Amino acid sequence: MKLPIYMDNHSTTPCDPRVVDAMLPYFTEKFGNAASRNHSFGWEAEEGVDQARKHIAALIHADAKEIVFTSGATESDNLALKGVVEMYKEKGDHVITTSTEHRAVIDAAKALEKKGVKVTYLPVDKTGRVDPDDVRNAITDKTILISIMLANNEIGTIHPIAEIGKIAKEKGVLFHCDATQGVGKIPVDVQELGVDLMSFTAHKIYGPKGIGALYVRRKAPRVRLAPMIDGGGHERGMRSGTLPVPLVVGFGKAIELCAQEMPEESVRTKALRDRLQDGIMDVMEEVYLNGHPTERLPGNLNISFAYVEGEALLMGVKEIALSSGSACTSATLEPSYVLRALGVGSDLAHSSIRFGIGRFTTPEEVEYTIDRMIKAVNHLREMSPLYEMAKEGIDLKTVQWAVH
Ligand SMILES: *Cc1c(COP(=O)(O)O)cnc(C)c1O
Repeated sequence: MKLPIYMDNHSTTPCDPRVVDAMLPYFTEKFGNAASRNHSFGWEAEEGVDQARKHIAALIHADAKEIVFTSGATESDNLALKGVVEMYKEKGDHVITTSTEHRAVIDAAKALEKKGVKVTYLPVDKTGRVDPDDVRNAITDKTILISIMLANNEIGTIHPIAEIGKIAKEKGVLFHCDATQGVGKIPVDVQELGVDLMSFTAHKIYGPKGIGALYVRRKAPRVRLAPMIDGGGHERGMRSGTLPVPLVVGFGKAIELCAQEMPEESVRTKALRDRLQDGIMDVMEEVYLNGHPTERLPGNLNISFAYVEGEALLMGVKEIALSSGSACTSATLEPSYVLRALGVGSDLAHSSIRFGIGRFTTPEEVEYTIDRMIKAVNHLREMSPLYEMAKEGIDLKTVQWAVH
């Protein structure tokens, strides 16, 4: 086993070597512009793009014409929210989303609010799920878009998207889904889910960074979008700019591999995740699972280690790449807004660690991680006066702390 260990696969993933192999010819021999219609260099590049588009559309049960390439899910989310709001402003000015969306959706919604758009941020239950009835009740005759993610990037909780899709359809409201963490890891069918727009990205599924897609439904209903980038009219006018052909080809290959390997891979990553979860939670006290016990991404594990500061814990296990519930929100050390939305207290939110098991995670790495986490947590707790007091049976909530 080699150190350091990468166990942060929700942040990004390494490119699969097979993806790199597929991309390489498109940097050198097949370097044409996919929009060049008059020569073989262009045709060859276009052929590569067409193939990729087909593989991507097939995985999500869409038509190739419904795939718009972007620079990543952040851009896809922005294009979906801002593009719909701009295009349908005559119809209404209300958007519904949740309080646990990725920053790409939350911040796009905030930007729209500054321009006068009304946004409802629905709460989630303690497992991180939104209640479809809350979605239904939030819809008004001014609602033009619902945006709810498929699976959360911190806690892995999977929302009841198909149920929400039915409500959206019934009410005639467009439905966008940020499926970045789900596509390639769990089955995703835009027809079954009833989504009209869907964001995802290559670098979370062993493809290259800098390429993503927005699925835009063409029939029943035909979704129209105001573009954010004007130019040569690429991607059916919704996203101009010369396509990064090697990245598109890599994205297509990554999706093709996911399609082939998902049944086996999801079982394997889930088994490793369950082993990691049990290996830690069965032997340690005062550890809490964040997220849904079952409706959760196969490779996701988010645990709060009470009386231990997440950042300090990460410092203690530097040879393992992980995320803490304070770090990912930024330099400000705010506890994760996702965990706060589940009702997790500030202390336990600061004590949380996110483990992301991926395609290249090995059983040896999982065993090593279990061992190191237990030792590091025990070590930090031994030095913690709070833990000492709690073990002596003192209820910390009743302690009168001196105020200076
Ligand atoms: C990673 C991620 C994004 C952002 O994707 P980029 O391609 O890095 O812009 C958006 N949404 C979710 C849920 C993500 O996990």
